[in-house]
Amino acid sequence: MQCRLCPVKCGADRAKRAGACGVRGLTVAKYYLHPFEEPCLSPSGKSGTVFFGGCNLRCVFCQNYEVSRAERGKAITPAELAEIFRELKDAGAENIDLVTPDHVSPLIAEAFALYKPRVPVIYNSGGYAEVAALEEIAPFVDVWMPDLKFFSGELAARYTGRGDYFEVASRTLSYMAKKPLLWDGERLVSGILVRHLVLPGCTSDSRRTLDFLHEILPAGAPISILRQYTPMGDIAKFPELGRRITDREYARVVDYAYALGFETVYTQKKDSADEKFVPKWEF
Ligand code: SF4
Repeated sequence: MQCRLCPVKCGADRAKRAGACGVRGLTVAKYYLHPFEEPCLSPSGKSGTVFFGGCNLRCVFCQNYEVSRAERGKAITPAELAEIFRELKDAGAENIDLVTPDHVSPLIAEAFALYKPRVPVIYNSGGYAEVAALEEIAPFVDVWMPDLKFFSGELAARYTGRGDYFEVASRTLSYMAKKPLLWDGERLVSGILVRHLVLPGCTSDSRRTLDFLHEILPAGAPISILRQYTPMGDIAKFPELGRRITDREYARVVDYAYALGFETVYTQKKDSADEKFVPKWEF
């Protein structure tokens, strides 16, 4: 059967070979209690995070390059994934945090049909998905946490090979933004939290992404503006990506978010841009 699960629609027969996302079935590069997710998702710093191998985007600057290119990762079944969810929950996970799930979402849904822990499930994605696929996994998801990476098609084509990124992501995020926001104290237990990574030299594009988010997100939705960009990955042909962002660039984007009226804006300290924050892969 030809896979058309995600917007790439590469048509690979995944029973026989990997698609453009790099994998046939489920692979996991690491799962653990991750301490660095936004405080509204894990106030105690115990996010039950599962890093899936492969990705349907090809970001040259990927901060998890070996995993997104499926160079790391162990093949598992949905039943084994359900056991991973159980192990994380038993270890004290405050949520289940699915990292890069779009290209394997039906298999994740199979795992949840076997076991769904009573903690919020976070769908932590690149924002490049088909709404029909999201509708299938939506019954198991509590908080959508997509990226919005670019507004410009030119930038998206240059850095991800997907020139239609914004066209697709705007549909994806508009769908996700419909989920009602629900807080339990300071904890977000339903709704959406969008992340945006500021790239060097791209603050004007960052501001356009914020304009769009301001249009579609429900009042009170938190956003997260990341300054952790660290030159990594396959950026030799992109010299402009060979530096961290400056204080001024980051402030320009964060100040703009506040000027638009966003109330809950998660920010990062300067020292977050360091390879030491990239997880060590297990498999
Ligand atoms: S999920 Fe993977 S195999 Fe399926 S269409 Fe997308 S890139 Fe191709």
